[in-house]
Amino acid sequence: MSVAKLAEFGTRHIARGVGRLVPEVIESGSGSYVTMVGGRKYLDFTVGIGVANLGHCHPAVTKAAQAQVGKLVHGQINIAFQKPYLELVESLLPMMPHKSLDTFFFWNSGAEAVEAAVKLARHATKKQNIIVMQGSYHGRTFGTMAMTRSKTVYGQNFGPLMPGVFSVDFPYCSQCAISSASNGKYGFENCCNDPILKLELLLKRETAPSDTAAIFIEPVLGEGGYVPPPADYLRRVREICDKHNILMVIDEVQSGFGRTGKMFAIEHWGVRPDIMTMAKGIANGFPLSAIVSRKELMDTQPPGSMGGTYAGNAVSCAAGVAVAKAFKDEKILENVNARGAELKAMLEGIWKDPKTSHMIKDIRGLGLMLAAEFTPGKSYASKVQAKCMEKGMLVLTTSIYDTLRFIPALNITPEDMAKGCQIIKEAIEEIA
Ligand code: PLP
Repeated sequence: MSVAKLAEFGTRHIARGVGRLVPEVIESGSGSYVTMVGGRKYLDFTVGIGVANLGHCHPAVTKAAQAQVGKLVHGQINIAFQKPYLELVESLLPMMPHKSLDTFFFWNSGAEAVEAAVKLARHATKKQNIIVMQGSYHGRTFGTMAMTRSKTVYGQNFGPLMPGVFSVDFPYCSQCAISSASNGKYGFENCCNDPILKLELLLKRETAPSDTAAIFIEPVLGEGGYVPPPADYLRRVREICDKHNILMVIDEVQSGFGRTGKMFAIEHWGVRPDIMTMAKGIANGFPLSAIVSRKELMDTQPPGSMGGTYAGNAVSCAAGVAVAKAFKDEKILENVNARGAELKAMLEGIWKDPKTSHMIKDIRGLGLMLAAEFTPGKSYASKVQAKCMEKGMLVLTTSIYDTLRFIPALNITPEDMAKGCQIIKEAIEEIA
């Protein structure tokens, strides 16, 4: 079938609820590139929305999955432990941001992991309500639709959604009057008073601590604009959780597995989560997600109440073991920090440049989870995105604010980073 016919076939037979950035058909991927049917190659700064973090078809991950396919594809966790499942736990244990996080459960997708965390929190605390952040993204399943606040389309007209979900502002420095007035010089340590006060008021007025099971937070707001919190915020949320006996659930689905330059983003702030959710980069593209918590908490779940047919599939787990090994063998975090600094410096240069500074409102992010927020009202993000595509590069927007996010492979080479920077710079300059 021709490229045009393939695309037409897809448009006719694939549900409209699926969004599509490129009107082409992906045939293959290798490292930082995807190749379309017909041969067009793109430098991929989306990597399947932050999933193929070690690049497309990473050789060691592919080899491990291929070997596992020949041994056992699916054994089902309720029948017996599967070897790759246990090997994955062994690989993940030393990577956890706190030693109390020692007991795992594997699922297939990020949303399922988040729902498993809701079940765990509600059952363990015997309390119903949960608090999420404005701008959050936790998934599109029935439970997580109620928790996702980044874009109304994700939840509107699908109700009634899961009850018992309350939301509060996430600290967002470039929108904050105090921070803007100080021209970026305000000490961030004291800067989160307003969102902390709002959280305390929520617990006073709308959902009492005695009814509140957990607070769910992405340590760096993902779909909601790639917003890292100020230095003190997560520690202060931890204090509130401790004071009121509320569980702190850190959603690392997007920010985990090296994306921010540490294995998990929460490590930037040294805060202990009660429960952590993971997915995306965990198996470099094989469907796999996980929750982790302390044993006493996890074991409050009645036997057989967790799971589903495919939870913790053997091939995905084998891929996950290879991912964990690659982090050790290939100096991935060093590369994230070096390449991230190059990309950020280029973006900050555009922000300072008199030719383009009027377009940029904020440059932010950590490691290779970086974003450029554009001046509102001009749809700059989608214009720059289209220009990048013309020049052979894929980049994504976020759900709110006029923002482009940059999530290349964590092992992107210096040459490909230089090429990506050049394309982004040219695209922004041409739009200016
Ligand atoms: N949580 C966060 C922070 C996410 O970014 C996402 C997806 O982007 C999810 C949960 C949902 O994951 P999935 O799409 O695998 O269900």
